[in-house]
Amino acid sequence: AEELIARRDAVVARVQEHYFAHPPRIERGWRHHLLDTSGMAYLDMVNNVAVVGHSHPRVTAAASRQLGLLNTNSRFSYDGMVTYAERIVELLPEPLDTVFFVNSGSEAVDLALRIVRSVTGRKDTICLAGGYHGWSTATDEISTTLNDNPHSRGTRPPWVHLAPMPNLFRGEHRGADAADRYADAVRSIVAQIPGGPAAFVAEPLSGNAGGVEIPPGYLPQVYESVRAAGGLVVSDEVQVGYGRTGGDFWGFQMHGVVPDVVTMAKAAGNGHPIGFVVTRREIAEQFSSQGSFFSSVGGSPVSSAVGVAVLDVLRDEGLQENAARIGAHLSTRLEALRERHSLIGCIHGRGLYQGVELVRDPETLEPATEEATAICERLRELGVIEHATGDYSNVLKVKPPLCITRDSADFFVDRLDEVLSAGW
Ligand code: PMP
Repeated sequence: AEELIARRDAVVARVQEHYFAHPPRIERGWRHHLLDTSGMAYLDMVNNVAVVGHSHPRVTAAASRQLGLLNTNSRFSYDGMVTYAERIVELLPEPLDTVFFVNSGSEAVDLALRIVRSVTGRKDTICLAGGYHGWSTATDEISTTLNDNPHSRGTRPPWVHLAPMPNLFRGEHRGADAADRYADAVRSIVAQIPGGPAAFVAEPLSGNAGGVEIPPGYLPQVYESVRAAGGLVVSDEVQVGYGRTGGDFWGFQMHGVVPDVVTMAKAAGNGHPIGFVVTRREIAEQFSSQGSFFSSVGGSPVSSAVGVAVLDVLRDEGLQENAARIGAHLSTRLEALRERHSLIGCIHGRGLYQGVELVRDPETLEPATEEATAICERLRELGVIEHATGDYSNVLKVKPPLCITRDSADFFVDRLDEVLSAGW
């Protein structure tokens, strides 16, 4: 394991970070487990990419079969891309009926930005302070997680407008009227943009902020005010879509809204690079009238076969229902843990997207950042892969593959209890 890290450091850019100070060498994965080369098995609590589980035989079979038949660029006509697009559209409410295929979340959000700009003829974009939307130049400009870039909020280009993260635990408004106060902040940003905004871009549950739930009533107000000013709304579902929140397939459905543009990636390919954007036909046509769009392997035959297989498994194995069931169980158990361990300030999220926020002081909410790192290291020794996220890297991620069992969920909570009780 150590030798591999030395080789990695010699040839891979160091900014491509790895988990843990001394990472195990992981060469196998199965369902919601990872195996290292010493034979140790770990419960994977952080992998929302492997949504149907690692090495799913149906996904493997679909990819291998298609690789042996055809893999080409999307300018050829083949069934896979059409079938996959039909399957995606079936899962979305009207009028979201037109798909663009790319290869990653960054590409999907980047393309969404191009679409909203070209359709509105504007550039100003409103997004949430603490959101993350990708690494490409445009998506990096709307990404402001302090753990990735502590200077991000002070260095945005003038077209980026940051609205406060509607975080009821740590944000500036926490009371019963918080949703309205946060929506007021967006209304006032909208009013200050001469010519109006091109778009509002946000996740419907804030993933990188730590699984922070957006209060009910906020998004409907924000969507209304942005649309009233002629802007469009983009729901970034890259982390939280695809049934992860349990009650709904898409995160925006929790809020009773329908966005103009949806972006998706990660889980769509279960680790295979797939990203897509869905919008209404009329928006897609307006965008297309301004030039062509081509992603060489976006929607390739292999990507499409993998994408359809992932959707089949989600449906056939009832994984959204499992997310609801195991998610509810985890919430109950984690809340009980919070009552016994003062280090736990809050349990964020729902379904299988939750966050355990660690604080040193329940009054000041001082983030327990170093503690979070040490707890993750100790959990690894006990067989759990954990990692912290959020502006202060003090929120333990709870976003395992959706096939996780109740026993494994209990294993995670019991190990966390053990570490919090015995020290790290
Ligand atoms: N949007 C969100 C909400 C994300 O969490 C991420 C990745 N963490 C992205 C976009 C970018 O996706 P990718 O890493 O596939 O480019």
